[in-house]
Amino acid sequence: MKPVYDRFLSSRINYIEQSPIRDAVAKIAAKSKTTKVISFAAGEPDPDVIPRELYGELAKEVFIKEKGSVNYSPADGLSELKIEIAKFMAEYEGVKTGPDNIVVTLGGSQAIDILGRLILDPGDIVIVENPSYVNTILVWKHYGVRIIGVPMDDNGMITEKLEDVVKRLHSEGKKLKLIYTIPTGQNPSGVTMSMDRRKHLLEIASRYDLLVAEDAAYNHLVYEPVDVKPLRSMDTEDRVIYIGSFSKIFGTGLRIGWLEAHPEIIGRVRVAKGPMDMCPPVPSQYIVLNLLRNKLYRPIREKAVAEYKSKRDIMIAAIEKHLMGLKHTRPVAGMFILLWLPGGIDGRVFSDQLLEKYNVAVIPAAAFYTDESGRNIVRLNFSMSEKDLIEEGVRRISMLLKEFKTSIP
Ligand code: PMP
Repeated sequence: MKPVYDRFLSSRINYIEQSPIRDAVAKIAAKSKTTKVISFAAGEPDPDVIPRELYGELAKEVFIKEKGSVNYSPADGLSELKIEIAKFMAEYEGVKTGPDNIVVTLGGSQAIDILGRLILDPGDIVIVENPSYVNTILVWKHYGVRIIGVPMDDNGMITEKLEDVVKRLHSEGKKLKLIYTIPTGQNPSGVTMSMDRRKHLLEIASRYDLLVAEDAAYNHLVYEPVDVKPLRSMDTEDRVIYIGSFSKIFGTGLRIGWLEAHPEIIGRVRVAKGPMDMCPPVPSQYIVLNLLRNKLYRPIREKAVAEYKSKRDIMIAAIEKHLMGLKHTRPVAGMFILLWLPGGIDGRVFSDQLLEKYNVAVIPAAAFYTDESGRNIVRLNFSMSEKDLIEEGVRRISMLLKEFKTSIP
């Protein structure tokens, strides 16, 4: 007799939700099998910008020369790689740190998950930007936490509102521990937090004794000279836990990220991580180690930045030409633009029809919001899109908008 599986599931199952963008992604994948789709849906670097041939050569060398490449590494990563990451933090982030402050993880994703496991209890509250990165919200919900979103504007999380929320929760005696922010090139908004706001956020964390998780996934995809520093580099009290990732520059498939924080936190992460995964993927660790040692981060990043900047410019110009008057974000960093649809059009309905009728894929942004405020917004990615199809994709968005009989203001 087949068991009734529900009886065996843990009570945690109540906290495990399907990603709300899964449906959209599945529809896009199905349609792409038979039709040429102009996709603004992805959230990844362009594989044609990444030097894959060089990776091939490095991989060959790694497998032939490093016996250890087919064995486990220490759970917290190869010690040589941690040394290189510490140098990276000094050179690119202005953070003086050492291997004892670093754990190499399976992308930023595992870093985020472990942090939740280590810090968050059921009933705890985490503050995020509204909107925020959907997988962080989903995975921290596994731990039974409540997520509260603080609105953003063009300068990032509105820290005056953050202060109001923190004050209120504090006076109510609520269990608030952590503020999670993606300060540069935020996913999904593309917005970068100003220096004043960064300072204010750290002041609030200090005043109310909170930790800050800084998700630095897009810190180095910056297209304009902006005067911002990583929160971790401004952190005099060791309140910031830095979530690093090489995904957006070296490629998401390598799965190499890291956590950098005070050794007391990192020591706990190390203990927790061993039995979870044995170690991050070792061939990838060696490849990243080689890339860093050979000083290839800068040229690979420079190529990516030049390419994505030109794609961003084409997309913004197309939005301004074909969707004149529509509200949208203007990213100086990252890979996304948010676009507000006029007349209360539902982003989900719009995205479905856009794919169905016009073969253009965008992601409805409602899933990224912690409340109902994102229903008429869609997210457009520019890093992965094909340059010569960007304008056409945006033109088709304008055609569907006309069918909705809305006038673009
Ligand atoms: N943080 C943010 C804000 C992201 O957008 C992503 C990837 N979409 C990640 C973390 C995780 O990426 P990875 O696990 O590949 O490092």
